[in-house]
Amino acid sequence: MAPPTARSLLASHAAVRAAASARRGRLAGDHHPPQVAALRRGDWVKLICGASFEDAADVRNLSLVYTLAGVDCIDCAADASVVGAVNEGIDVAASIVPAVQRPWVMVSVNDDCRDLHFRKAEFDPEDCPPDCSKPCEKVCPADAILLERVMIEEEHSQSDPSCGKLEGGVITERCYGCGRCLSVCPYDRIRAMSYVRDPAMTAELLKRNDVDAIEIHTTGKGTDMFNTLWSNLGESINNVKLIAVSLPDVGDSTVNLMNAIYTTMQSHLQGYNLWQLDGRPMSGDIGRGATRETVSFAVHLSSMSNRPPGFYQLAGGTNSYTIESLKKAGLFQSTTFPGAATSGVTDCQQAFIGGIAYGGYARKIVGRVLRKIPAQFGHARIEDHPDYLLEALQEALSLVGPVKGYPTLPSL
Ligand code: SF4
Ligand code: SF4
Repeated sequence: MAPPTARSLLASHAAVRAAASARRGRLAGDHHPPQVAALRRGDWVKLICGASFEDAADVRNLSLVYTLAGVDCIDCAADASVVGAVNEGIDVAASIVPAVQRPWVMVSVNDDCRDLHFRKAEFDPEDCPPDCSKPCEKVCPADAILLERVMIEEEHSQSDPSCGKLEGGVITERCYGCGRCLSVCPYDRIRAMSYVRDPAMTAELLKRNDVDAIEIHTTGKGTDMFNTLWSNLGESINNVKLIAVSLPDVGDSTVNLMNAIYTTMQSHLQGYNLWQLDGRPMSGDIGRGATRETVSFAVHLSSMSNRPPGFYQLAGGTNSYTIESLKKAGLFQSTTFPGAATSGVTDCQQAFIGGIAYGGYARKIVGRVLRKIPAQFGHARIEDHPDYLLEALQEALSLVGPVKGYPTLPSL
């Protein structure tokens, strides 16, 4: 647990952020849950832990840090232990700063195994040439590949890189399917194993009190798979407050597809709904240009008058350049686009883009701090290392703060 000095610093900074958010909510005359008020203002922030990222220790620490930074939602793999890790992180954040807003917990599932978020890299290191320079290990943004060259008894030359063999491989729970290792392997040894989350297990998760929302990833290749999943989820869908649909821009047919999906959902839609505009999946950590596609997607939809009701949120390539790019497009917290569709309310003050989801970039900037915790602590709890907790929070605030409009705070 953080000592009193760190705890009081965290509490005072959290109080300033909470006051800033409350003031913005009152100005909007909002009576919705704080997460929905944020969507209506256009300052909703979601942390994406990764639909396939299942390293519970990292998920817990990321959830703790981003809860303190004030995110509205944490999106994670639809897996009971990962959901438990997210909630543990939130609980610890609330124990440090009791006034902190509890983010909604969202589980991500897919309707089709072709969605890139739902795959894992796999290879047998024994098939790798021992002298391979291991570009797969270097390129992996999740530190999900670990390889070591070991000598075989009858071979003697430690200095000859062609001797021995490679051991290790993919750490499955850390792989989130970005695919970068696939394209760099010079020997084509890596396979991508796709999967679909089991609807029955998802339905069970949705019954939990600590799951607030679901996100369904659809590939934009028609509605049959979506309709099947929707039907399989049955009444369980009524247990959540928010249903998000994540989809790519598939050109002129995008809005028709969204409307068809909305028609399917409408019969069971008791809460809010959100459209996640997935630009360039799992690429936010790459750099400035990665954010272009999701902003273009938003611009494309803003010109369509027949888009379906619901909140709209960016994802896929989002990073520290996203706000600047949204501002250039005239879409940052803007309410001036025609027919701003709403969910359950009709209010011309609703921002067209409700907010931003940050994934790879959010994990990268806080992950850099998590990796500094000395290895002897194993699966470390970041709150046991107050200096690292403060540093990680500073990183998280650098991403969340500009969306939320937090006042500039002195360095933590
Ligand atoms: S797919 Fe991406 S996350 Fe998974 S091992 Fe390859 S580079 Fe790492
Ligand atoms: S790049 Fe390919 S061959 Fe080389 S270590 Fe990685 S998986 Fe094996």
